[in-house]
Order: sequence, then C-alpha cells, then structure tokens
Amino acid sequence: MNKEKLVILGSGPAGLTAAIYAARADLKPLVLEGPHPGGQLMTTTDVENFPGFPDGIMGPQLIDNMRKQAQKFGARCEMKAVSRVDFSDPKSLKMTVNGEEVTADSVIIATGSVARWLNLGKGEEKYWGKGYTACATCDGAFFRGKAVAIVGGGDSACEEATFLTKFADKVYLIHRRKELRASKPMQQRVFENDKIEVIWNQNVTELRGDPLLESVELTETDTGEKSELKINGLFMGIGHDPSTKFLDDSLELTNGYIKVENHTNTSVPSVFVGGDVADWHYQQAISAAGWGCMAALDAEAYLTSLEA
Ligand code: NAP
Repeated sequence: MNKEKLVILGSGPAGLTAAIYAARADLKPLVLEGPHPGGQLMTTTDVENFPGFPDGIMGPQLIDNMRKQAQKFGARCEMKAVSRVDFSDPKSLKMTVNGEEVTADSVIIATGSVARWLNLGKGEEKYWGKGYTACATCDGAFFRGKAVAIVGGGDSACEEATFLTKFADKVYLIHRRKELRASKPMQQRVFENDKIEVIWNQNVTELRGDPLLESVELTETDTGEKSELKINGLFMGIGHDPSTKFLDDSLELTNGYIKVENHTNTSVPSVFVGGDVADWHYQQAISAAGWGCMAALDAEAYLTSLEA
C-alpha cells in the first residue's frame, strides 16, 4: 500500500495548477492524471483567452506546459485513474488505483467534466476544431460575420446563443422539442434577439463539409423528414457530465457536481475540490486553474494543521 501526503485527481488546468502550487509548497503531490489526461483542453485547438499568451496557444501545448511546470517543482504525474474511493476515515483517505490501494492524508479532486457531444457515430470527431465545438466562450470569436448553430434548449444553449450574436451574423438554436427548458428570462433574451432563429423539433443527424464544417443534416423528430442547414460553426449546448462516478456516495453532490463550501471544502474535511467537477457555471480553463490554486492552498493549510 502506498501512503501519500497529497494526491491530486485530474490533470486539466485545475489539477495541474493545484500540482504546481502543492509542489512548490514541498508537498510532493502525486497527480493521477485520469482516463483522459489533460482533460477538455486536449480536444481544443487555439486557446485565445488564457492570460499570458497574446498570440494564443494550442490546448494540448498549454497542458504540456503546465505539466512540465508542476514536474519541475517535484510533482509526480502518473497516467493512472482512480476507480474507487473510501473516504470514511478523513485521516486516511483510500483510493483504488489500477487495482492497487493508495492512501493519502489529503486529496484534491479536479476530475473536471465532459461536454456532451452528439455521438452520432458518423466520424464527426473530424470536425473538432474545424467548426464543431462545445465552448462558445472560447471559440465564438472565430465566427465573426458567419452563420452558426447551437444545439440545446437549456440555459447554456440560450445564454451561448445570445453570446454568439456578438460575432456571428446569424445564430440558429436547434432544439429537439417544441419548448425550451431554459428559464423564462433566458428564453426571453433569445426570442427578442433578431439574429437568433429557433429551429424547433429537430435533431442534428449528420455533419458535412470537407475539411471544414459547411452544413448539417437536420431530422424532424416527429416525421423524420430531413433537411440541410448551411452553417460554419456548430456549438454544443446540451450540457456537461461532471466526472464523479468513481466517488459513489463518498462526497455530497449537488446536481451531480461536487458540493462546495468555503471555496474548496467538500463534505469530507481532508478532501478539497477545484475546477469543473464542482462548477456548472463558468467552466473555463482559467477559472479552473484559479480554483485549483485555491484548493492547493487550502490543502496545504489543512496538512500544516495536522502537524501542529
Ligand atoms: P440542461 O439544463 O441539462 O439542458 C440541456 C439541453 O440539451 C436540454 O434542452 C436538452 O433537451 C438538450 N439535450 C440533451 N441531450 C441532447 C441530445 N443528445 N441532443 C439534443 N439535445 C439534447 O443543461 P445546461 O443548459 O448546460 O444547464 C445545466 C445547469 O446549469 C442547469 O441547472 C442550468 O439552469 C444551469 N445554467 C444556468 C445558467 C445561468 O443561470 N446563467 C447558465 C447556464 C447553465 P430537453 O430539454 O429535450 O431535455
């Protein structure tokens, strides 16, 4: 059994920023990178809104830089995932890692969330970064003067449709039903915006274009009738799934996201949290990084209090 001082779960911006801070505090953190090392930035191309990179930086490069920075100060990054945890004893946190048991005095959970994609099974991954994206905040500015569509009928889709009208000339909001799930004020904003057209009762069933996205096939949900919509960008607004499955009932959750108190505290005093696994709202690389920093500082204070 391996006994660690601090284990960080996840290797996106939250986990790696936590690792940089914890390593600089000489905590020698073990970073378990998870099933998708680097997280959502690994499927992102140009990142133009992360401070410090005036010419932008590719998502995977940004992750690689963060990992190297953490390792430089002594973080140990391992491509392993936690399948089970037992947090019943806060002084000895247990995790099953690739079949082995690891215990730790403190854990930072930064396992992020996964954007929901269409999953049509028709090779639509080839359009990632070529018009098919799940982040309006990150990629909206690439579609200045173009026509784009966002799929979904919740608050995210409505908020992002409105945001996209800052850049795009035309924004289609494609929803699979005849009424939106979003809150009334959010719906109102969509209906009052001349640039947004809501397309009701339709599913996107195919992405087309070579190599860039040029159009999508729509299928009417009741009749199955097909049509084509010409667009340059397709945004996903159908929600995110926080990566919390391995926790079982070990921590309190809210709507599937880890419940947080006092910035980074969870329902177990030695377990801290940072980034999208607790954030249904901002979901940005920089907000995750900032939160990872806070989690590391709080974990450090907790570990210091054990020595007192
Ligand atoms: P959401 O509320 O779960 O809505 C997801 C939407 O995507 C639904 O309209 C759903 O359709 C649709 N959808 C799901 N899977 C689909 C698929 N495979 N194909 C087509 N459409 C699909 O998710 P969200 O909008 O991301 O919001 C998540 C949470 O954050 C909510 O609690 C929301 O209120 C909150 N939020 C708040 C704000 C704000 O207050 N400013 C902003 C953003 C998010 P159906 O309606 O048919 O199920």
